[in-house]
Amino acid sequence: MNTAIFYDDLFLAHDTQNGHPENANRLRAIRRRLEEAGLWQPLLRPIQERCSRDFLEVNHTRQHIQRIVSACENAPASLDPDTLVSARSYDAALLAVNALVEATNAVMAGELNNAFCAVRPPGHHAEKDRAMGFCLFNNIALAAHNLLHHHHLERVLIIDWDVHHGNGTQQAFYDNRQVYFLSLHQWPLYPGTGRPDEIGSGEGTGFNRNVIFAPGTPAEEYMQKFEEVIPDVFQTFSPQFVLISAGFDAHRDDPLAQLQLTEDNFAAMTRLVLTLAREHCDGRVVSSLEGGYNLAALAGSVLAHVTELMQYEA
Ligand SMILES: [Zn+2]
Repeated sequence: MNTAIFYDDLFLAHDTQNGHPENANRLRAIRRRLEEAGLWQPLLRPIQERCSRDFLEVNHTRQHIQRIVSACENAPASLDPDTLVSARSYDAALLAVNALVEATNAVMAGELNNAFCAVRPPGHHAEKDRAMGFCLFNNIALAAHNLLHHHHLERVLIIDWDVHHGNGTQQAFYDNRQVYFLSLHQWPLYPGTGRPDEIGSGEGTGFNRNVIFAPGTPAEEYMQKFEEVIPDVFQTFSPQFVLISAGFDAHRDDPLAQLQLTEDNFAAMTRLVLTLAREHCDGRVVSSLEGGYNLAALAGSVLAHVTELMQYEA
């Protein structure tokens, strides 16, 4: 029982063109930093296969999938002004989704304590019928579907601490009480959704929570709120599994937002989630890379996050 990093070089072949903030150098920087720390090779776990097109349909429309297939056939192409694809992007996206499926399967089987998926394209902005915000398919939502349908869990918690609202994940489970979606994000900021009064609908009412922070919010204030909300959600929902949409763009050096977190804050956030996950669900946690656009801040934050994951003892 230990920690693993799911990664494949195919993720580097998702080419978003010159100057795009979400580019392959992000994963190269993470890899280099973890290699320097002696963690990459021991933790690296290969991804066995790409997910099937049928599996994508658990969360996405056929039209959406076909639009991405066609865009890649005509690459380079753009699905929206921010979301570009190259010829291998569809294949990379299928492998990214399956990284999360394989990670959740391995944790459910007790082969791993927890895992970090170093994947791209990211996923949390991808809606059922729309690619947007650098995201093609919603990796974390598909992982939650895997836990509900394949493993028959009834309470999956998704914590999204990317600095942007996870609009696609919120949409996926807005009327679903089996998945609690908690997003902590800067407000106002792209994509413009994620108000605190968006609390879910129908039987999902009360199972969607948005916590917002003004630009420039001090790290202490963010952490105070985090340490208040996270235990409250565990207490009320008692999750059987925890998924983290782990963006690191709330870092103070990130160029796309104005929050003030540091590597130490991401370590403390990871620690708190693991502590509560141990109490509620045998420490079952899988996190997946979303944003983070300053390469040094991103690599250092992932190192801090993974180092904490490794500290977990069952
Ligand atoms: Zn983000």
